[in-house]
Amino acid sequence: MSSVRHLLLPNSLTAAGLPAAWSGVNMAVYNYDVVVLGSGPAGEGAAMNAVKAGRKVAVVDSRPHVGGNSTHLGTIPSKALRHSVRQIMQYNTNPLFRQIGEPRWFSFPDVLKSAESVIAKQVTSRTGYYARNRIDIFFGTASFADEQTVEVVSANGMVETLVANQFIIATGSRPYRPADVDFSHPRVYDSDTILTLSHTPRRLIIYGAGVIGSEYASIFSGLGVLVDLIDNRDQLLSFLDDEISDALSYHLRNNNVLIRHNEEYERVEGVDNGVILHLKSGKKIKADAFLWCNGRTGNTDKLSLENIGLKVNSRGQIKVDEHYRTEVGNIYAAGDVIGWPSLASAAYDQGRSAAGSIVENDSWRFVDDVPTGIYTIPEISSIGKNERELTEAKVPYEVGKAFFKGMARAQISAEPVGMLKILFHRETLAVLGVHCFGYQASEIVHIGQAIMNQPGEANTLKYFINTTFNYPTMAEAYRVAAFDGLNRLF
Ligand SMILES: Cc1cc2nc3c(=O)[nH]c(=O)nc-3n(C[C@H](O)[C@H](O)[C@H](O)COP(=O)(O)OP(=O)(O)OC[C@H]3O[C@@H](n4cnc5c(N)ncnc54)[C@H](O)[C@@H]3O)c2cc1C
Repeated sequence: MSSVRHLLLPNSLTAAGLPAAWSGVNMAVYNYDVVVLGSGPAGEGAAMNAVKAGRKVAVVDSRPHVGGNSTHLGTIPSKALRHSVRQIMQYNTNPLFRQIGEPRWFSFPDVLKSAESVIAKQVTSRTGYYARNRIDIFFGTASFADEQTVEVVSANGMVETLVANQFIIATGSRPYRPADVDFSHPRVYDSDTILTLSHTPRRLIIYGAGVIGSEYASIFSGLGVLVDLIDNRDQLLSFLDDEISDALSYHLRNNNVLIRHNEEYERVEGVDNGVILHLKSGKKIKADAFLWCNGRTGNTDKLSLENIGLKVNSRGQIKVDEHYRTEVGNIYAAGDVIGWPSLASAAYDQGRSAAGSIVENDSWRFVDDVPTGIYTIPEISSIGKNERELTEAKVPYEVGKAFFKGMARAQISAEPVGMLKILFHRETLAVLGVHCFGYQASEIVHIGQAIMNQPGEANTLKYFINTTFNYPTMAEAYRVAAFDGLNRLF
């Protein structure tokens, strides 16, 4: 029977009520086929696949709710925040709304409230999946005693022992914190603690212009905060197609984000009324708050991996083979804890694949073809090769573009910012890459992805002109871009 173990304890023994003397006492030993450590997307994907294949499965999470960092600190809160901020921006800029009121200012805690309600709904849905599938959940911190045994220490110090044939480590990641930055200062945050911010700073320094830094730059600038975005490189998100990266820079700047490229911190000085960032270039920047978004580290330090002879790299990440198997035969790993691409989208499939490798039910696949979805304002998404890569590889490609400002659906939605760009082979017409920014970009990209995944000649640009799409839709951009590209051929 499925259960959440700590909820089965009598009230007198729950977290608050456990007698102190019981701390460290081993309450019970449980036997499973597969035990999954972590209930984020990777853990959930793994647990569901293993249980569907008839295995007896348990999941352990150190947080007293399922969902992982993805639900509680990462993907879900940041996307919910962004959604609210976009609604506020629309209300404040669309002339239609002036009939019901003047532009309004909303605080960060205001928008955080709606994110919290989404988190709660996600936890409810996901808890239901485990219950329905008869997966036991243990809330506590897991560590290996040996290759077949994990000990789970709950918040009240009670220890439970889980014995299993196979384990899947899906313990995710957390923000990397360099020793020389004082994160105990009340104005210094990382991407986890920013969700405790109880006021709206007038000025914010975001250190690190990767995906998370750029997304938070969009969220805060959308709330009217003056953001300094510090980039260690000379181009924002340099893995993107250059044109898309340029467009992001333009729109962030247009929204009052000051992007400072090729900068590195010398020192982060917390003072009473703010934070001063001293840069190696000699510049000094002061703001009301400082948000560190530079790097993540795998959650492996509490797993006692030394007891099973498993090593991690300098980022705390575990090495796996294509079957998500670690160097210890019965132990697998998936999600952020194995490093790239560190996305919830990939983590879910990696977890499912790790379990697929264990149960051998043909559900394994190596997850190496992941679309990029970046929820900046404007949104960005891409799949396949970009122009730089194709040019370097000397592939004879051509470009087809559709600008959202000319499309009916974008005009109706008052979303004129954006573009879809299709890169295709000029001889075979095979789609080689799809790059998009603007309204619904992360949805639109999947149409291109579906065609790119077709075998042989079925991957063709012609699909977009030989197939009738709904109108008016954002998907119409594919037809417009396909005609634009074909018109360049001779
Ligand atoms: C701000 C932000 C925005 C993001 N936005 C997106 C996005 O839009 N799209 C996207 O695809 N990805 C996004 N990501 C990345 C995404 O959140 C991660 O890739 C995803 O959470 C990884 O899932 P996971 O299952 O590997 O681990 P996690 O979600 O990190 O979950 C791991 C769980 O394991 C638990 N745990 C850790 N150690 C132990 C232990 N010893 N014992 C028991 N439990 C343990 C943790 O408490 C946690 O609950 C974002 C990340 C951040 C930080």
